[in-house]
Amino acid sequence: MAKQEDIFKNVVSHAKEYGYIFPSSEIYDGLSAVYDYAQNGVELKKNIREYWWKSMVQMHENIVGIDASIFMHPTTWKASGHVDAFNDPLIDNKDSKKRYRADVLIEDYCEKLWQKAQKEIEKARGRFGESFDEEQFIATNGRVVEYLSKKKEILERMAHGLETGDLADVKLLIEELGIADPETGSKNWTDVRQFNLMFGTKLGASADTAMDLYLRPETAQGIFVNFLNVQKTGRMKIPFGIAQTGKAFRNEIVARQFIFRMREFEQMEMQFFVKPGEEMKYYEYWKETRLKWHLSLGLGKENYRFHDHEKLAHYANAASDIEFNFPFGFKELEGIHSRTDFDLKAHEQFSGKKLQFFDNETNSSYVPYVVETSVGLDRMFLSVFSKALQEETLEDGSTRTVLKLPAVLAPTKAAVLPLVKKDGLPDVAREIIEDLKWDFNVAYDEKDAVGRRYRRQDALGTPFCITVDHQTLEDKTVTIRHRDTMQQDRVAISELRNIINDEVSMRNWLMKM
Ligand code: ATP
Repeated sequence: MAKQEDIFKNVVSHAKEYGYIFPSSEIYDGLSAVYDYAQNGVELKKNIREYWWKSMVQMHENIVGIDASIFMHPTTWKASGHVDAFNDPLIDNKDSKKRYRADVLIEDYCEKLWQKAQKEIEKARGRFGESFDEEQFIATNGRVVEYLSKKKEILERMAHGLETGDLADVKLLIEELGIADPETGSKNWTDVRQFNLMFGTKLGASADTAMDLYLRPETAQGIFVNFLNVQKTGRMKIPFGIAQTGKAFRNEIVARQFIFRMREFEQMEMQFFVKPGEEMKYYEYWKETRLKWHLSLGLGKENYRFHDHEKLAHYANAASDIEFNFPFGFKELEGIHSRTDFDLKAHEQFSGKKLQFFDNETNSSYVPYVVETSVGLDRMFLSVFSKALQEETLEDGSTRTVLKLPAVLAPTKAAVLPLVKKDGLPDVAREIIEDLKWDFNVAYDEKDAVGRRYRRQDALGTPFCITVDHQTLEDKTVTIRHRDTMQQDRVAISELRNIINDEVSMRNWLMKM
């Protein structure tokens, strides 16, 4: 089995064993592509959401948040284009009966071309050493040029097929490239068909008067329909943003990658309203700012890359993804889209209401353009969790499993451990907890030898272990052990709050942006 698959399996089982993520309704054998966040998972998820909210809303004077409903008037989805165009192109393998997204099959093929090019680049870097000029090499090396131009050509052809509805050509492309069912190797494909991803439901008591509703497939529309309410009541001046986190629902065709692709998931979105013509400036600004936010978590610059879209959604004039190196390769983590005035104009048209900004300086009104940043909270969770999970070999040859979560996001910041369960040590440990719990999520653990407790907290991702021993009774000091370095320091109980705060405060982490 490939190593990547092992890592991914490990992530899934660790998430379950340590109370992060459970399959939904597991006693009934679960529900495909639906998961529950467990006692530790819910804390990690909440911390990620807060880290996002703080950086986007609290740190920006001109961005405010809302919390719109999941149910929206059904005309919303006519106006937004989702009823007519929120489709994925699906293809079935006739032999294996497995269903795939045609665009994902083609993108995965292109990813392999990209990896081949990367291999050549790395080889050359090794050969040329310090004097290596990567840009020049990419532009002139025959093989690299061939891989990358082939990739571009394929993606352009796919984009054209999907945009113009020429699905026969998308199928032809799959056949010409010799793409096989990744699970069985069969190349016996059906035609490509479009499939709408929205879940329908009904509002109302009796069948004949019930109104057809959709579960929202994105949170963005809740922001657009509230644009004028927020602008007026908040006296917002362009440029300004509206942020929101919340659930979205998509009837995904293929959902085999744990919480990467779920049917019910959470988005963290911000729509930034700008003057027409200024959208590219803000598009570039938000691309850069969002990448900096990701990098502030310290998971490694090499694990992120931009992917500029060839195929633009029906509403966009520029779009880019921030991709992350998940255990199954680079995939979309966040989308940054320049959505033009498509949404507001469409809502004006369908509602008959004006959704415009009155510019005092020019004494005229206009429909603002929108730049969107949209990141999946569950994908963020997976990116952080999968990179944090590490197997380490220690100096004495033993191994430890450690979840090196960024301390700012860790569910529990410190565990307080009495060395033994007697001599009044548990009481002192409880006193320390009573004090720290006002500021941090802390845990008490007295079971097993202290070494095993350290290992358990390592695997849970707790940044600090505080051990109370007999010396504590004499001089009010404890040992504090750091998860990542395993270094232990003797410190006064009165210093604990500052030491922990230094490492976990959002202020210190966000300052790195
Ligand atoms: P993909 O191409 O992977 O289906 P998308 O381009 O349709 O994603 P967007 O509509 O741009 O995704 O949604 C914004 C963000 O929401 C994505 O970057 C992703 O992080 C998250 N997201 C989208 N679909 C899912 C899903 N099914 N499960 C979990 N997160 C999702």
